[in-house]
Amino acid sequence: MNIAARLTFLFVLPVLCACGTGVQQADLIFVSGRVYTVNDAAPWAEAVAIRDGRIAAVSSDAEVTGGWAGPTIDLAGRLMLPGFHDAHVHPMYGGIQMSQCDLAGSASVEALLGKVASCDEGLPEGEWLVGGGWNLSLFAEANPGKELLDGINAARPMFLRGEDGHSSWANSRALTLAGIESETPNPPHGIIERNEDGEPSGTLRESAQAMVEAFVPVLTLEQRVDATREAIRLANRLGITSMVEAAVSDWELDAYRALEAEGALTARLVASVTIGENPIGLSNRDLITPEDRGTGKRIRLDSAKIFVDGVLEGETAALLEPYIGRGGASGMLLQEPATLNATVADLDARGVQVHFHAIGDHAVRAALDAVEHARRENGAGNNRHHISHLQLIDEADHARFAELGVVANFQSLWAYPDTYITDVNLPAVGPERVQRMYPLGSIERAGGLIAGGSDWSVSSLNPLEAIETAVTRQDAAGGIEGVLNPAERVSLATMLAAYTRNGAYVMHQEDQVGTIEPGKLADLAVLERDLFQTPVREIGEVGVVMTLLEGTVVHDSGVLGHAAVP
Ligand SMILES: [Zn+2]
Repeated sequence: MNIAARLTFLFVLPVLCACGTGVQQADLIFVSGRVYTVNDAAPWAEAVAIRDGRIAAVSSDAEVTGGWAGPTIDLAGRLMLPGFHDAHVHPMYGGIQMSQCDLAGSASVEALLGKVASCDEGLPEGEWLVGGGWNLSLFAEANPGKELLDGINAARPMFLRGEDGHSSWANSRALTLAGIESETPNPPHGIIERNEDGEPSGTLRESAQAMVEAFVPVLTLEQRVDATREAIRLANRLGITSMVEAAVSDWELDAYRALEAEGALTARLVASVTIGENPIGLSNRDLITPEDRGTGKRIRLDSAKIFVDGVLEGETAALLEPYIGRGGASGMLLQEPATLNATVADLDARGVQVHFHAIGDHAVRAALDAVEHARRENGAGNNRHHISHLQLIDEADHARFAELGVVANFQSLWAYPDTYITDVNLPAVGPERVQRMYPLGSIERAGGLIAGGSDWSVSSLNPLEAIETAVTRQDAAGGIEGVLNPAERVSLATMLAAYTRNGAYVMHQEDQVGTIEPGKLADLAVLERDLFQTPVREIGEVGVVMTLLEGTVVHDSGVLGHAAVP
């Protein structure tokens, strides 16, 4: 049904029903819940009626059941929220990592090598061992050696991507196959880490990763689609219904489109098209489709991804003040400010949203400067540019997010004193800068809009773990002591808005999703407990019992008694 026909239908039906009981038919009704709408005008309700994929009514139990009839689910006091928006995520790569040698969560070098050994046992002789998700902070200077992998199986080529996507680890066999030797120069925007004798150590940074990646067997479309299907299922299990795919080329789009064609893409995507200088060296400008904005298409391509710098772990993040003990080096901007300004102004003029990757305070400033330049050239548009990661923001730049209308897209799961911060970042940038990391509270106080993203498979896809960490600035898993910059804590309500309404704003979809209001699409998540009544240190463990996309159940844990669902 097109929009006009649907409006006519909704308009006519109440008139018809006035001749009868006055009760309208709903496809599904939820009652007796704690419905947190994220709509400031009416933040709480008890019941929701759904018809034709849209929210037909949100109100008290008495009002909704008095006006609507249909299959009914008793929420028994559970919390209903708008479906979560993950504003920075790599679903296909997360799915691929799950399908390969998945090293995520290995908390020691022994555990990591044990996992690699068991992956090795399961593979035929001679085949590549490929995987990812290893924790960089387990190794001195985030620099694991090839000999650790050679010790498991020297005959097999091994290539293991680091969990941040900016470093990879190869064994000697893989380096040899890729032709990487002592004399091999670093590629542009990449580093081949070397031992004291000048030999490649086994760790490759940024574009140097591609030198080995190019020899890894290429995944078929079918393998990518299968991996993506599992990733979308996992997202739905965690209550996620919308995502900003943080970096696409044709390679990823083919998988999403194939999944959509089989009806299994049960999430809305704005896909950020990677352009220009970036760690994988792609340019895909022709894929950008500004006309997608505001349409109901499941995959929209009205956003461009620009990498402004690298990461602190490889000391490739661009800083305003130098790294400690690196001879004055302060990282690198991946392109000259003048080039960045011109690119952003051009995209902005064409109605394209820019999604920046910026970690260091110099990179964040360069991104803000580029938006300021674009506004001078084009005026203030409605493109809603946003900057992801934001590990360091100079205080002088805090207010510029609000002034320039740039959304601060934080990965708040990183905002606690984990070993990256204590063992890798602290020696590299010193305590003063560590005390300023991930300034969510400062940006909020300066009037900036905060969105939230996981950056999965870099870190957990679970929005509730990131929300807990933003509220506590402590380890959501409870294994690590300490608090990172408690002054930067924000409230639960701020983070729920970040993961719903503000995510919808970033995706230019706030008139369709992001809050629970009559007329909006029924993208909803039901949680097993009310987060507002849950101790903050337990938020990350709360499960999602049901997820709906456009009124269709896409995840059901069974506890709501889904016999009631037709
Ligand atoms: Zn990312």
